[in-house]
This record gives sequence, structure tokens and C-alpha cells, in this order.
Amino acid sequence: MRNTCRIAALAGLLVFTLLGSLAAGPSGLGIFPFAGYSGKLKAFFALPDETVPGETASQRIPLVPFSAKVNGRIGGYKLGAWPYEKKEGSNPTYANPKGFVEVTKDNLSLHLSEHFTLGQFVTKDQISVWPKYVVLQPRLLDKLELTIAELRREGHPVSGLVVMSGFRTPEYNEQGVGVGGRSAVSRHQYGDAADVYPNDRGKGRMDDLNGDGRVDLTDARILANAADVVERQHPELVGGIGIYHATSGHGPFVHIDARGTRARWGG
Ligand SMILES: [Zn+2]
Repeated sequence: MRNTCRIAALAGLLVFTLLGSLAAGPSGLGIFPFAGYSGKLKAFFALPDETVPGETASQRIPLVPFSAKVNGRIGGYKLGAWPYEKKEGSNPTYANPKGFVEVTKDNLSLHLSEHFTLGQFVTKDQISVWPKYVVLQPRLLDKLELTIAELRREGHPVSGLVVMSGFRTPEYNEQGVGVGGRSAVSRHQYGDAADVYPNDRGKGRMDDLNGDGRVDLTDARILANAADVVERQHPELVGGIGIYHATSGHGPFVHIDARGTRARWGG
């Protein structure tokens, strides 16, 4: 019986992996057309002419092709230039995104997964410009959902995560390069990174997860460790985990990305 279960699970994983690689984007890491490892994804993104095996219309969010960006903008929305836009053929991890999700006032609150909405990942500038555009990878959402599940399993009943910074346009990212360690090749520009913290106490900063009366790096480490556990269980979602201490402008937070190779910093 146990063997039957294991074979069924392996077969399921194989089908899932095959479908993922069939739908692979330029990163070669694949997208998750279904619910992901977490079982909590509700949507996937695809170009208008792209067919994704097993898709249903309700899951599909159309992408505006990368080529719609002209002189660094789409309509009135400024995006800028991706780090290797003028040097095609460099590291595929840093290839240009294949497209953008168009964000309007009407789809801001669309649930992409159980705990995350599209609006949480929008770059925090150009407040009055609509529509806006976002690059986002389902494997990031999957990793964040699994991290929430792991925190709960460890006895931290968080209801979600605040996304301090999700997608950042190159235009916006460039303004902070060097400040607080922001990189010119930041994963935030590729839609597979988010700076997050749980905020169930409603204080606008990370919760006191270990209950020692202080909000500090030890709380951030609990969150980072949960993401690390997720990576060990799901190597497909491997990426960066960076721990940041509080400054006068923000509380502690953790950067989580799914770039495809392991990276660790801070903490
Ligand atoms: Zn970050």
C-alpha cells in the first residue's frame, strides 16, 4: 500500500514536472500551470498565443508581450531597461521577462494564490498612472505560500505576509542601487522576489514571532528559516534568502526569491 502511494506520488510529480517544463519561460525553470507544490496557486500567466497543457480559462491571466515596451515604457507607465536587454544571450537567469501582467484598479485585489493579491506586487511609484505593469513568477507565489504553511506548522499562526516590495521596475530599482544593498541585477526586476514580513498584530512591522517582547533579527530569522525548510523540501524553488534588520524607515524583513540557485545573506 505504501509503495503504491509512493509510485502514485512519483507519477504525479513526473507529470507535474513535465507540464512545468513544457510551459517553461525564458528562465527555463518552468511555470506552474496548476496549483503549485503548495496547492494554493489560483492563476498562471501566459502570452496570448501560448497554449498551456491542462489549463482552464479561469486560471489564465494574459501577459502583455515584452515587445510592447517601447523606449522603456508601455503607454504612460515607465518601466526602464532590464539589465541585459541590450546583450541577449547572457545568463538565462537574467534573460528579459517574457511579458507583463497589466494591472488596473479592477484587478488589484485579484487573488493569485490563497494569501496573495496582484496589487501586493506592484512597484511603489507612479501612483496615479494606470494601467500599471508587473512581472511575476508563479514559483515565487508558491514559495511564499509554502513558507506561510511552514510557519504555521512551527506554531506561528500567521494569516499572511505583508509584501514590502515585490516587483520593482528597472526604472524604480535603479533609483536605489547601492542604497541598502539594492543590486543592479536585483531579482525584484524578474518577478521572483519579495521582501516580506508577517503583520498579524497590525503594528505595521514584523510580528514578535518568538514572543520575547522585542521585534528584531531573531524574529526575521524564524521567517528566513521557514523559507529555508521550504527550499530543502522543494529544491525546484531554490533561490535567495536575505535577512534585513530594522532601520528608521522600516522594521526587520526577509527577502525571499526563487532565482533557481542558492544565495544567502544578512542575519
Ligand atoms: Zn528584496
